[in-house]
Amino acid sequence: MLAEPSLLLIGALFVAVAAGWLLGRFRTGRSAELPPPPARGLSEEYFRGLSFLLNEEPDKALEVFLRMADVDNETVETHFALGSLYRRRGEVERAIRVHENIMARPSLSDEHRLHAMFALAEDYFRAGLFDRAERLFEQLSDGGARHAASLRYLLRIYEQQRDWDQAIAVHARLSGVAPPEQPTALAHYHCELAELARQRADFVLAREHLRRVREVQRNFPRGALIRADIALDMNEPELAATLCQRVVELHPRLLTLALPRIVRAVHGDAAGELERRFHTRIRPDPAARAELAYAAIVAGLEHERFVTECLPDLLREDPSLGDIVRSLAGDPGQLGDEQRSQLAATLGRILRRTQRYRCVDCGFASAAHFWQCPGCRSWDAFAPVALLDVTPGMHRR
Ligand SMILES: [Zn+2]
Repeated sequence: MLAEPSLLLIGALFVAVAAGWLLGRFRTGRSAELPPPPARGLSEEYFRGLSFLLNEEPDKALEVFLRMADVDNETVETHFALGSLYRRRGEVERAIRVHENIMARPSLSDEHRLHAMFALAEDYFRAGLFDRAERLFEQLSDGGARHAASLRYLLRIYEQQRDWDQAIAVHARLSGVAPPEQPTALAHYHCELAELARQRADFVLAREHLRRVREVQRNFPRGALIRADIALDMNEPELAATLCQRVVELHPRLLTLALPRIVRAVHGDAAGELERRFHTRIRPDPAARAELAYAAIVAGLEHERFVTECLPDLLREDPSLGDIVRSLAGDPGQLGDEQRSQLAATLGRILRRTQRYRCVDCGFASAAHFWQCPGCRSWDAFAPVALLDVTPGMHRR
């Protein structure tokens, strides 16, 4: 049974073929003196090819279409439809053969040749042959109708290859012709380079990249978190804690990322002043305390003392979880220290075995946080999932 998009494509293919046939008939009937035009339109070969396609024999169909002699500016649309059909069915090798076959025809117009080149580049991209795709998209990116689309593909290739310098260069070219698809992408490219420099302990270069981040995006939380990491590396816990605190104030959903750094800063402060301040900041607001306990468990900090203090609030805020605990151990508020600490440890173990983050755009789930979703390429779309994934109110963005 063919999937619906395949049927639609075969329908489109059929329409293209029928148009070729009508054109052929019109020309044939126009003048008796002229020599008969070359056989075109619905030749026996077309019928055989279509019949193989409809009977799910794509290899035989491909051979018939590749053997057809009359690939020219009038029949080429049929071949494009066939290539598109194969690619959408995931049969990229066959799509590549169709599009290479079109490109090899000397009689085609420049527009059809560029169309075939773009389609072939898309095939290579789908097949993961990024070096070949890159070469073709680069040729197509200097102008013409597929200029912006080719630059977008190049951006995707460099993002997947984590070639951030190239991504920055292509982003600059693309922003000259089309609005950016993802406004924060450029800031993330500079953050990626800042991270790499920090990992090499090249703090001067890391700060230079962070300066570029600030130029393109004000109050960019990822940049602040990297600055906090540098502060921690350089034994400046107060600065790290202040930066993270500001990130949480501006972007509460990033609590799970800021909290481990705050805890590191607090523990790294020899005088203990930061720790005292941190504990006085754990406000008597049950919802905020629940958020804090939840974020800490997601971040793997369930053994911290403040988590056991805030756990009863989390159990009250998450009704499903609270009901389970209540039925087993009574009122969450009456749990002893030892019970709370065991419960926090258990929740941490459960979360570590499951996916703790999910993309709000495509649903891709993962145990780790990603700034760019591996499923749909969205930046900033990962959010922690609920402890028990049955309470929609606990989904965060
Ligand atoms: Zn996604």
